[in-house]
Amino acid sequence: VSIFATVQRAPRDPILGLTEQFVADQREHKVNLGVGVYQDASGKVPVLECVRAADADLSAGGKPYGYLPIDGLAAYDNAVADLVFDDSVERDRVAVVQSLGGTGALKVIADFLHQTRPDAGVLISAPSWENHRAIFTRAGFEVAEYPYYDADRRGVDVDAMVAALQSAEPGTVVVLHACCHNPTGYDLSPADWERVLAVVVERDLFPILDMAYQGFATSLEADGAAVRAFAAAGINGAVTTSFSKTFSLYGERVGALSVVCADADEAGRVLSQLKIIVRTTYSNPPTHGAAIVAAVLTDPAQRAGWESELGGMRDRIKQMRTALVDGLTAAGATGWEHITAQNGMFSYSGLTAEQMIALREEHAVYGLDSGRLCVAALNPTNLDRVITAIAAVSN
Ligand code: PMP
Repeated sequence: VSIFATVQRAPRDPILGLTEQFVADQREHKVNLGVGVYQDASGKVPVLECVRAADADLSAGGKPYGYLPIDGLAAYDNAVADLVFDDSVERDRVAVVQSLGGTGALKVIADFLHQTRPDAGVLISAPSWENHRAIFTRAGFEVAEYPYYDADRRGVDVDAMVAALQSAEPGTVVVLHACCHNPTGYDLSPADWERVLAVVVERDLFPILDMAYQGFATSLEADGAAVRAFAAAGINGAVTTSFSKTFSLYGERVGALSVVCADADEAGRVLSQLKIIVRTTYSNPPTHGAAIVAAVLTDPAQRAGWESELGGMRDRIKQMRTALVDGLTAAGATGWEHITAQNGMFSYSGLTAEQMIALREEHAVYGLDSGRLCVAALNPTNLDRVITAIAAVSN
């Protein structure tokens, strides 16, 4: 008999399963608000101009595709550290490795923490991006949740969150969404962040700030404020960066892990261990996407171009949120203003699982059963359909 005879079939990834169902749907006007991908007004995943230009330069240069160092392209790692930390922390106190997207950064830090602190607990927000639980569980941790989403008040229950962190064991790893919380869209206010930072310091917790959407909420500067405040507080912590969305480079797998250490010597030791994890997992990261991002970030004109294109994506999402709420109100559906109070690509709409199923079955509008809609996939062509459908299932 095969050694795999007893292997069980794993459950389907719920989001990918939804996509398959969407693809199989024969209705012409179907709308997919399930996946986490930004689309432009014409429904396409954009190629940013700054990316196009950097890509052309790189191709013209005809550089060979050799191996990168284990920790990635040095120019990239430095540019990421500048973007993430500015001057909030001495650069030599931070160990940075280029990673395979934000997911890869989370996996490397999870493995490193498990090697260093195997008995630590891990706390993620309730709810959180599904992969947070999966990655830390697979790395060997017990994963629990801290309260976050408050359905009744449509926002964050920061009192409950802080209370949970207050009672966490010292050394507990706390995964925080730096901005544009996935899946809810509700972020902490600057005052909330101060409270969270204070309890992290007081209880000696290990924060991981997951930053997959810097620039999608307010600006690069404002969205990075919490990360810089944590770094400036002089504590250990990590930042996991993804450029999948902000550079629209999803498949290139461009991300970074930054670990803030006590001093340069500690950062060197930590980096040496991160490199072993990388070496034994995928050896070294891919070349092209990181070269594009490094070129854009280090050229002032290109960087300004990127900020403007990033602002364009951000503004378009906000316009779609407003248009959705206005349309629902005009259609006689009330109580949708919370959608414009949220940030980023996602909205916890407040629709129930039953309503989400009805959206799908009766109106060919696809979102997650949790009520999560990807508002970054709305556009002038599909908006009216979505409004009509939501109004129909919620009245
Ligand atoms: N963290 C969060 C909160 C995310 O939403 C995502 C992307 N869905 C990631 C990390 C991972 O990003 P990447 O696709 O770059 O691995």
